[in-house]
Amino acid sequence: MSPALTDRARELDARHAATDLRARFRLPAGVVYLDGNSLGALPAGVAEAVADVVHRQWGNELIASWNDAGWWDAPTRVGDALGRLVGAAPGQVVCTDSTSVNLYKAVVAAARMRPGRRVVLTDPDSFPTDLYVTDAAARVAGLVVERVFPGDAVARIAEVGDDLVLASYSSVDYRTGELWDLPAITRAAHAVGALSCWDLCHSAGVLDVGLDEHGADLAVGCGYKYLNGGPGAPAFLYVAHRLQDDFDQPLAGWNGHATPFAMAPDFVPAPGITRGRVGTPPLLGMLALEAALAAYDGVEPAAARERSLSLTGFFLECLDTLVPHLEVATPREPARRGSQVSVRHPQAYAVVQALIARDVVGDFREPDIVRLGFAPLYLTHADVLRAAGHLRDVLEHREYERAQFRTRATVT
Ligand SMILES: *Cc1c(COP(=O)(O)O)cnc(C)c1O
Repeated sequence: MSPALTDRARELDARHAATDLRARFRLPAGVVYLDGNSLGALPAGVAEAVADVVHRQWGNELIASWNDAGWWDAPTRVGDALGRLVGAAPGQVVCTDSTSVNLYKAVVAAARMRPGRRVVLTDPDSFPTDLYVTDAAARVAGLVVERVFPGDAVARIAEVGDDLVLASYSSVDYRTGELWDLPAITRAAHAVGALSCWDLCHSAGVLDVGLDEHGADLAVGCGYKYLNGGPGAPAFLYVAHRLQDDFDQPLAGWNGHATPFAMAPDFVPAPGITRGRVGTPPLLGMLALEAALAAYDGVEPAAARERSLSLTGFFLECLDTLVPHLEVATPREPARRGSQVSVRHPQAYAVVQALIARDVVGDFREPDIVRLGFAPLYLTHADVLRAAGHLRDVLEHREYERAQFRTRATVT
């Protein structure tokens, strides 16, 4: 390994010592985990918290826990905790359902807030569920979806003008890790009287998203990626205060009712963000997520962002030295980079498998992307250097040509 890079890793780890929170996680020894953007690592304390929910709250206290253990209010309580990490003041985020379902609510509700307008813009390179759900929501709401690259969105928004309902984009591209201009797209949408909706799946926990600061209207995101909520953790929905009275979402369920226990025959939406709820929440997953968020205690989004940029920046430096010919799909400018570095390789799937065999865990995305996510709280610059060294070895020794690395599993 290059002694200069080893020194540099040491120096950067010393400089960022205050945000080295690896002790807050239970990671298997020896593994460099670069897939926290797909399934976050297990924070310390989650197993104990879940055991308490199961044994005491459920096992002993039984149904009283809906009141006494705060089960009923968990969606808004956890929502506020999530909100802090995406720059939302309390009362605007609810933890509920999946990202797919929340996006559906947001798009239909946006259409209802902008009657007479027809167009919703979204990214042709979006995560597939965002494309499917946007199309499905548009169909029921009578909208037309235009797929426009985020880099062209500002110009297209101005052209569509007062026919635009919503600009619906991910703040970070799930494949390339490119960070899009949330403030500019939001401003452009507002300039024509339209709304913005942001998918924060690859931003929450690693970026200073600043939803309130930038005047975002709606947002959705995952609980199980950088927020470490665990497999299938519930997602979240943000509706800015100023829009909540008009937020008429299509999935009217009893948990979103103004008086759910009145058991009234007709739906009256609850005031505030509670109207984003639908049915009974998956409490085990939600309370696991709540416990997991303790890993972020005392961490400001800007501090997570600073560490994340240092890690990805150093990884790019390592690649330049160790594998200079590798094609990097992620922008090099910090302002255009999320928290991952993706590289392209014709045998990307096998490269990822060969890395996993070396205890460097990333993932593969179609068609040729080796995707490496850098969760700031539990990775060090020393880990980053080790990962880059293994990547060089895999490529140098052409390990991706081995048959054992070429068979695809169901989940890639
Ligand atoms: C991970 C991810 C999703 C996942 O949606 P679910 O409904 O929670 O499965 C959606 N959108 C983006 C951009 C993602 O990265």
